[in-house]
Amino acid sequence: MTKKLSIIVPCYCEEESIPLFYDAVEKVAPQLPNIELEYWFIDDGSSDNTLGELRKLQQKDPEHVHYASFSRNFGKEAGLYCGLQQATGDYVAVMDVDLQDPPELLPKMLGYLESGEYDCVGTRRVDRKGEPPIRSFFAHMFYKLINKISDTEIVDGARDYRLMTRQMVDAILSMSEYNRFSKGIFSWVGFKTKYLEYQNKERVAGKTSWNFWSLLKYSIDGIVSFSQTPLNIASYVGLLSSVASVIGIIFVIARKLLYGGSAFGWASMVCIFLFIGGIQLLCLGIVGKYIGKIFMEVKNRPVYILKEKK
Ligand code: UDP
Ligand code: MG
Repeated sequence: MTKKLSIIVPCYCEEESIPLFYDAVEKVAPQLPNIELEYWFIDDGSSDNTLGELRKLQQKDPEHVHYASFSRNFGKEAGLYCGLQQATGDYVAVMDVDLQDPPELLPKMLGYLESGEYDCVGTRRVDRKGEPPIRSFFAHMFYKLINKISDTEIVDGARDYRLMTRQMVDAILSMSEYNRFSKGIFSWVGFKTKYLEYQNKERVAGKTSWNFWSLLKYSIDGIVSFSQTPLNIASYVGLLSSVASVIGIIFVIARKLLYGGSAFGWASMVCIFLFIGGIQLLCLGIVGKYIGKIFMEVKNRPVYILKEKK
């Protein structure tokens, strides 16, 4: 019996990569027995000719290729969500269009799912060759940190490239949250996941749309979405400084009663005020970050807006 495999491909300004990606996957297709492919390309409001390339590809292979185009750039997470909603396959794969996610792994990934032992096959890079060392360093730090403070485990180096069963996709779709951090969501829904490892590949064309600040924002969003530890830390720091101040007050009163004399100098006072003021602002900022997320969730805005679909 033929089964359908949907491939979801978020694309942002990738006019050069799209035909290369399609050809690379089609080359692997004969190695997928009894599988009919369905492509869902999501054009994330690209400013180049990505949509034109997708229309062209859709005309070339109208039976298998579908695309959806957003009214503006909503981010990769929105693209993934849209793709998962559109996909109709028994199996669903998520892949980047820049061929950093090697299609040659698909037959092996499918094998694990068809054996019935796993519900999901993920991939992780064992190295970060071709990436600036500073980016790798921060990435490792991020995984260490989020795994310490969150109950949801996120595998270091795990890519979004994965193959899932329909059951797992439906579970993910039942999470309608606005702030979507897929790495966390994939892990939160559970299911048995096998990780395949591979060497990092450089993108075939175009350039990455991430920079230091967007990655930092992505990391903070991930932490806020999957951990409440920062809020707890704020309370602990508050508790600790109150205890310290009570000890200080007792000390000052005792000194006055025993030895008389005047209070401490102003320099130490200013330092203490500044320190406490700083911590208060920091804690307020942490609380604010969570309130901001709640604000976005309660507004209940759509994750993306479609302009064209085929
Ligand atoms: N992408 C997207 N919307 C964005 C940014 C990126 O759909 O706002 C897509 C992009 O076209 C690619 C994938 O997400 O298919 C991964 O992006 P990129 O290669 O820039 O990230 P990296 O591989 O450097 O982590
Ligand atoms: Mg890439």
